[in-house]
Amino acid sequence: MNRITIAVDGYSSCGKSTIAKDLAKTLKYTYIDSGAMYRAVTLYALEHNLFEGDYPNETVLKKQINQIHIDFRYNAATGKSDTFLNGENVEKEIRSMEVAGKVSPVAAIGFVREALVRQQQEMGKNKGIVMDGRDIGTVVFPDAELKIFVTARPEVRAHRRLAELAAKGENATFEEVLDNLTKRDLIDSTRKDGPLRQAEDAVVIDNSDLTVEEQNAIILKLFRDVK
Ligand code: C5P
Repeated sequence: MNRITIAVDGYSSCGKSTIAKDLAKTLKYTYIDSGAMYRAVTLYALEHNLFEGDYPNETVLKKQINQIHIDFRYNAATGKSDTFLNGENVEKEIRSMEVAGKVSPVAAIGFVREALVRQQQEMGKNKGIVMDGRDIGTVVFPDAELKIFVTARPEVRAHRRLAELAAKGENATFEEVLDNLTKRDLIDSTRKDGPLRQAEDAVVIDNSDLTVEEQNAIILKLFRDVK
């Protein structure tokens, strides 16, 4: 059976990574969290004091973009992949509210997208990959055999993200989280390069009222229908 490319796009915190991870595990495919890469570039910019208010200094970031190396390494203790930035495990740091609050302006920069899209395409060149993000079915893998576009009501998404943050010991209010999601969605869907939008051939799933099991069953059926 030929291995295929699976693109999972959608709004912030609507469970794309749960879908993509579960599917990759079931199919024994590689899972790549493209959002983690944009978050890692943002963390780099924060650590190197490149932010001037809400925006990074693009001239300096451009000069340094080739010094930003991101890779994913399997963590046997958690059974998941961790994100590494220039050799350092930054999995926890990239999930903070601080990074979430700064990532969308960084992800709107053309040369940042160019560099990361190139790496993502390289990671997927042998197929057998599930990648989640915003532009995977439209820009990174426009020829993906299966494209899923995920959505959920904003309040449902904010509750889910709040629970995730609480589980990691990070404090945030419902309003802060909802505000962050709404702002990111707006910047992500209105930017010039690789905006968040549904590919014409994507299947839309609104998982507001679905359990993870129900959702996985729907997606596995979609996968079987491709074959
Ligand atoms: O998926 P996640 O919420 O971790 O992504 C963080 C941010 O990275 C998004 O809000 C978006 O600005 C950016 N992103 C992107 N393109 C992708 C994946 C993420 O612009 N393919």
